[in-house]
Amino acid sequence: MKNTLIYMEKELENLYPATEIKSFYYLIVEKLNSWSRTEIIANKNTVFSEQQHQTMLAFIKRLKNFEPIQYILGETEFYGLDFQVNASVLIPRPETEELVEWIQKENESKTVLDMLDVGTGSGCIAISLKNIFPNAKVDAYDVSEKALEVAIANAKKNSLLVNFSKVDILNQALQPSEKWDVIVSNPPYIPEQEKIEILPNVLNHEPHLALFVPNDSPLHFYSAIALFAIKNLKPKGKLYFEIHKDAGESCMELLSMLGFANIELRRDISGNDRMIRAQFL
Ligand code: GLN
Repeated sequence: MKNTLIYMEKELENLYPATEIKSFYYLIVEKLNSWSRTEIIANKNTVFSEQQHQTMLAFIKRLKNFEPIQYILGETEFYGLDFQVNASVLIPRPETEELVEWIQKENESKTVLDMLDVGTGSGCIAISLKNIFPNAKVDAYDVSEKALEVAIANAKKNSLLVNFSKVDILNQALQPSEKWDVIVSNPPYIPEQEKIEILPNVLNHEPHLALFVPNDSPLHFYSAIALFAIKNLKPKGKLYFEIHKDAGESCMELLSMLGFANIELRRDISGNDRMIRAQFL
């Protein structure tokens, strides 16, 4: 195995920082051998089988193309659970874990809750909420059938029950037959003009449907979801959003204009405005 690390360092040295290459090495060896990190260290003189070696070479080729390691391995972790991921869904982000944590802390005292995640992608928010609130009824929407396939597989993998439906939230005629205590969404929010600033691992591999919005209407998902929430939240129900770091003020304004109360904007661990909660009284 130690030769593998040397090989990876040589192949990837101009593309990634050394610490990242080391972390790829551990993730790849863990995946190929189903070993823990201590087992890797204990077995550092073991060599790969021919098949493992070929897989490793294919993985390195994909890393050279800046494909995210999570897609290469087909999995990642979010809020303590394992999730399957592929190019049809966004890779769950740490800042989204902070949003889930906020929902957890604010709703802990409630025993029964009906929750809806709009634009669920991999299902990471909805499935984590069901894990945190086992008595809740959790529903999740996505417009992408391919994303829903991944989300359904993830709920099954974690033995958690979430009701997934193919829904386009921009369709104004939606008339769901139920109401929710909590509606949450991490919709697409990056204006097209920011494409030039996006790193190739994201830009060339993650689904643009989940990332980008037109320059002239960066908040159109927020207004559609807020209008949907006004009609479909239970009294005193709460709406939670992940937002673009520059959209804090405009999102707060939008929600206040629409009649929401108790609007709070929070930063993520990097210090960027990143999430909003509002209540419809
Ligand atoms: N936070 C993601 C990123 O920066 C974007 C997520 C989204 O558009 N909802 O890549």
